[in-house]
Amino acid sequence: MDIQYRLEQKRRIDGAFPGPKSAALAERRSSAVAAGVASSVPVYAVDADGGVIVDVDGNSLVDLGSGIAVTTVGASNPKVAAAVAEQAARFTHTCFMVTPYEGYVELAEKLAELTPGNHAKKAVFFNSGSEAVENAIKVARIATGRQAVVAFDHAYHGRTNLTMGLTAKAAPYKRGFGPLAPEIYRMPMSYPFREENPSISGKEAAERAILAMEKQIGGDQIAAIIIEPIQGEGGFIVPAEGFLPRLAEWAKEQGIVFVADEVQAGFCRTGAWFASDHEGVVPDILTLAKGIAGGMPLSGIVGRADLLDSVHPGGLGGTYGGNPVAVAGALAAIEYMEEQDLNGRAREIESAFYAWARPLQEQVPALGEVRGRGAMLALEFVKPGGKEPDADLTKKIAADCLAQGVVILTCGTYGNVIRLLPPLVIGDELLADSLAVLEAAIRANA
Ligand SMILES: *Cc1c(COP(=O)(O)O)cnc(C)c1O
Repeated sequence: MDIQYRLEQKRRIDGAFPGPKSAALAERRSSAVAAGVASSVPVYAVDADGGVIVDVDGNSLVDLGSGIAVTTVGASNPKVAAAVAEQAARFTHTCFMVTPYEGYVELAEKLAELTPGNHAKKAVFFNSGSEAVENAIKVARIATGRQAVVAFDHAYHGRTNLTMGLTAKAAPYKRGFGPLAPEIYRMPMSYPFREENPSISGKEAAERAILAMEKQIGGDQIAAIIIEPIQGEGGFIVPAEGFLPRLAEWAKEQGIVFVADEVQAGFCRTGAWFASDHEGVVPDILTLAKGIAGGMPLSGIVGRADLLDSVHPGGLGGTYGGNPVAVAGALAAIEYMEEQDLNGRAREIESAFYAWARPLQEQVPALGEVRGRGAMLALEFVKPGGKEPDADLTKKIAADCLAQGVVILTCGTYGNVIRLLPPLVIGDELLADSLAVLEAAIRANA
């Protein structure tokens, strides 16, 4: 990596935290912004670069969340900023469904190259990850003439009506928001740390799900199987080796569209372009968002040309989908990922993490498991002596880190997982500093 940072890459908290300006903004917010949208950090951002976020009071926080896996190339990547500014000065919108433009086509071509498999592919763009998932299911249903959709335990696929139904966790995502969409079936995941039989292989875990699908639905009734190759919100769960390939193989035998939801895991996050790449899985459709465009709101689906072309003209789209400014951001972000070899950088972060986390795990009985790939890494906390999830401890550790100026996110069905999603442009020193803060918080509380 050869990076010139604009902001000093240092953690710094001056005085009260949150400071007076953030506190004043919180006051205004509480009377103007809906309570349903919650923020995990109590300070208000004014600037961000590399691995730091600077707040309105001048505090400098280390960012280990990347705005939930979005700012992989940094939150003010100069290449992205320049491409976005240039496009915005030409035209901000025409609507691709009215007057198309080259960037959209170029991005579709680029993603056909980067995604797994060398079959003919096509793409279509939207605004959010949820919208991409919705459209992958629309395509799968029309292409197969079937209705059933299979999702997994611990899955997270979004907050719109269909995707809220696909998401596993009731609170806070679904409770009270029904009725939910019909024809959604939930199958057991491969979650190695929490398997009743810890020696179950990935293939056996897949057969367990396949048997349930055969008995409860019937393979010939299923339009799509959707799965995150590494689960995000559900706890950064990496399925046992062999699980994904067997599911994909069975889907193919049954004429089921295999959809990899790569919204969180895609674009260098796991040390490969896509998490499906780690086991050579070739999904029929990939859903993409988050890391795709350096922070610009953009999502898309890329998949088998025959599937995507089974939809009649006018059946897919949206006013803003594939917005030209967002597309310019994506082309610049992807070029930057290639130039700086951010896949290699993610693997370096993975090595640094395990060199730190493995010895720590041996000393801290509450640290049940450390897992993850690339810069999508997690620590799962339990009550010592067993595997009972310890959400309170997890919350305390995250809060301590924040008070020290390190932004850390939690996740997991049981709320007992700390997840690390640093921007891939974070420097080694800053990363080491933030891990030292995390280690101190773990030792002080566990
Ligand atoms: C975040 C996420 C989504 C939803 O994306 P939004 O842009 O928030 O709608 C879908 N799937 C996965 C795996 C995600 O992590």
